[in-house]
Amino acid sequence: MKIYDTRTKTKKILRGKNIKMFVCGPTVYDWSHIGHARTYVFYDFFVKYLRRKKQVTYIQNITDIDDKIINRAKESKISPLQLARQWEKEYMKDMATLKITAVDRYERATDHIPEIISQTERLIEKGYAYQISDGIYYDVSKFKRYGQLSGRTNLKEGDSVSRVDHNKEKHQPADFCLWKLSKEKPYWPSPWGLGRPGWHIEDTAISEKYFGSSYDIHGGARDLIFPHHEAEVAQMEAITGKTPFVRFWVHTGFLTVEGAKMSKSLKNFITIREVNSSPRLLRYYLLRAHYRSPLDFHPRLLKEAENDLHKIDEFWNHPDGLKTKLYEEKFYQALDDDLNTPRALAILFQMIKEGNKKKLSNKKFLQEIDQFFNFLEPEKQIIPEEIKKLNKKRNEYREIRQWSKADEIREKIEKMGYEIKDTHQGGVVRKVITSYNHRNE
Ligand SMILES: [Zn+2]
Repeated sequence: MKIYDTRTKTKKILRGKNIKMFVCGPTVYDWSHIGHARTYVFYDFFVKYLRRKKQVTYIQNITDIDDKIINRAKESKISPLQLARQWEKEYMKDMATLKITAVDRYERATDHIPEIISQTERLIEKGYAYQISDGIYYDVSKFKRYGQLSGRTNLKEGDSVSRVDHNKEKHQPADFCLWKLSKEKPYWPSPWGLGRPGWHIEDTAISEKYFGSSYDIHGGARDLIFPHHEAEVAQMEAITGKTPFVRFWVHTGFLTVEGAKMSKSLKNFITIREVNSSPRLLRYYLLRAHYRSPLDFHPRLLKEAENDLHKIDEFWNHPDGLKTKLYEEKFYQALDDDLNTPRALAILFQMIKEGNKKKLSNKKFLQEIDQFFNFLEPEKQIIPEEIKKLNKKRNEYREIRQWSKADEIREKIEKMGYEIKDTHQGGVVRKVITSYNHRNE
């Protein structure tokens, strides 16, 4: 299969039977939002898809030490590590609801302090790092390929970057911190004194420990290309002298909410928890777009996606017997071409359309592809007794043509978050799943 590589800007064939993959995990200090969901759902799907043919070892790091964590802990009056553990638990719960199960190891930054110190020492020895008053910094002018991954030539501190390291003694603004000296807990002893790691170094320390000095795929969201992934290249390739340290750089596109970038100032963050009335719908919604394309989160599109799920449910419930071989071939061709989910799903829905017309299904194929999609199998609907009773009453009114009474009950049911589909067998109730508690509404 072919995968797009950000570094070479081309689709390349992914060779080899054993694939080592590392994806940037969360900084655990707050709720995960649907932008995170997009990234982690995609890599979960990607790994599960690869595992049909290959062995994959998938590692994600957990950033559990960082300025944001320290600041939040001060506000909450608990220790930074305590705060990080609490949010890590919430993160894991969110991942479970989204059926994200492909990760083999979650590795915390603070469990790799010796590896981080060792990398920093080697960078100093080789002349790529220097010490100033508040820590050890990487000298980007020493690494000739700095800027190659992101295509940035005019490197400035700040450049739409949220986590920059300020110190006037730095050799140039783009230099970044490897080890921060600090007398404030949490700190760890190091050859340079008490302190804590910088941000970029944890990824290469963790990946070197489990994968060695080079590996197959490094994933993450687009906004991590610079400076985070650029810094990783600079660290690892300076240590080993080998290039490229990662064969494929894979990046997921941005997610907007009703056309706007999610931001603190717009207060338009939507957390995974807020849409967890249907993780199935969210998972489908996120995989419907190609992983590299921008994706907008919009109630109208969510409704559209919900209707798609109803078509899938209808198809799932027909008896088997549909011939699907021709669809299957094209479906896999689409996914083998840089995981083109929109094309693969278009083919799947052509198949579903034919099946629903002929009232025939092919559950074997659906189950096979649901190993990586995890949104095809219908969710078990649990309708509360109260709603069932109301629906029965409404059906009785309809039978005796008491339309206004029947409509009154429909309204009541809808207010409770359910909707009714009238069929030959009477009204059937199902839960409305597109509602999410947007904090602005
Ligand atoms: Zn990272």
